[in-house]
Amino acid sequence: MIRLVDVNKSFGQKEVLRHINLTINDGETLALIGGSGSGKSTLLRLMIGLIQPTSGEIWIDDDEISHYDEAQMDKVRVRMGMVFQYSALFDSMTVGDNVAFGLREHTDYDEEKIRSIVSEKLGLVGLTDVEDMMPNELSGGMKKRVGLARAIAFEPSTIFYDEPDSGLDPVTTEKIDELIISMQKRLNVTSIVVTHDMETACFVADRIAMVYEGELIACAPVDEFRRMKDERIRAFLRGLY
Ligand code: ADP
Ligand code: MG
Repeated sequence: MIRLVDVNKSFGQKEVLRHINLTINDGETLALIGGSGSGKSTLLRLMIGLIQPTSGEIWIDDDEISHYDEAQMDKVRVRMGMVFQYSALFDSMTVGDNVAFGLREHTDYDEEKIRSIVSEKLGLVGLTDVEDMMPNELSGGMKKRVGLARAIAFEPSTIFYDEPDSGLDPVTTEKIDELIISMQKRLNVTSIVVTHDMETACFVADRIAMVYEGELIACAPVDEFRRMKDERIRAFLRGLY
């Protein structure tokens, strides 16, 4: 379970998130929506301990991580997989080495075991025989898949996606959205999907939370969310931002 209690985050004088209270249950998929600059990525980065809140508590299961140091955070992070907005692959490494990177850094598995995990994870995201390719030989959608394979290398209990569909055409977007759902079903993970795309949010999520200018203005099951009357939500649903 992930729980944020009255979380505030400022960068210098700039208040980016205010009084965030949010609980994400095991096995659920939460879509985090909101306009550009509303604070979605900052919220995600707080949950994975890449940045610390100015005040408030962030619980990951029984760990209150808001003031954890890197060594403490490393132990929590093995339970988390992250798929970043711009795939964030190492361009000078093969696809196989990209997926193996964390395993080589953080385990003492032998090469045979690492190779078998890498090909299993690539298979799970629908890629075969790509281990020796370089990232720049791949399409945008394939890069996202490799990023996801890397994120699930440690069999995380939670996967965080930051704008998994950014820069993809509609058909590829749909395939990535389907992949997010297949991860939930096959790996039984908790998923947090940051997106500014309402269609993606409705398709993948159990609940939708909306951030507006640094505040969490709504969090509700998909059907209920779509019926909400708040003008800021209506505007978002009409695609105004
Ligand atoms: P979103 O992901 O919803 O587009 P972000 O969380 O990236 O929004 O950013 C929210 C606000 O916080 C923006 O105004 C952004 O400029 C600001 N911001 C994000 N990270 C930093 C930082 N490291 N330093 C200063 N301001 C930041
Ligand atoms: Mg963002």
